[in-house]
Amino acid sequence: MSSSAMLVQSRVLLLNGSTWEPLAVISVQRAINLLLDEKAVVVEESGEFLRTVRDKFSIPSVIALRRYINVPRRHAHWSRKGVLVRDNYTCIYCGAQLGTLQRGKVLAKADFTIDHIVPRSKGGRDTWTNTACACSACNHKKGDRMPNDAGMRLRWEPKTPRTSYLVIALGTGPATWKRYVEI
Ligand SMILES: [Zn+2]
Repeated sequence: MSSSAMLVQSRVLLLNGSTWEPLAVISVQRAINLLLDEKAVVVEESGEFLRTVRDKFSIPSVIALRRYINVPRRHAHWSRKGVLVRDNYTCIYCGAQLGTLQRGKVLAKADFTIDHIVPRSKGGRDTWTNTACACSACNHKKGDRMPNDAGMRLRWEPKTPRTSYLVIALGTGPATWKRYVEI
């Protein structure tokens, strides 16, 4: 494969028919097969092309099935990494993000941690709805208190994502996926 044919976009987000809820992250090959079989339609292009001897395919970034398929709703296993990715490394208390300048330091992934909204000492568990990404400063400030007791407010309500697989894929996927994956 020449450098001009290198695939920048190697995975495609597959949405369900009609509802456009995310189903899976699939290979470009599988996505193209679904399109060629007229089982799916292109929702977003990646801007990349796949060239074969005879053809040139526009590589999709997001595709949707033509028909709705019934899939059981699966819930994600909780993980620290999953929480950070779900929250896009954004502090739930102050809104600091990757690259934010805080106290003279540009925040990197290592500067974010998991905050238990109801502290573990008060019975708070490792669940998607009780944990969120927080910067070290806010995590330290809140300590072992409830947000209200620390005078801190949640900027959003932490939610349980559909699947941990999609959450992790989102963290490494293109920005175009984000609007289709509601977490
Ligand atoms: Zn913060």
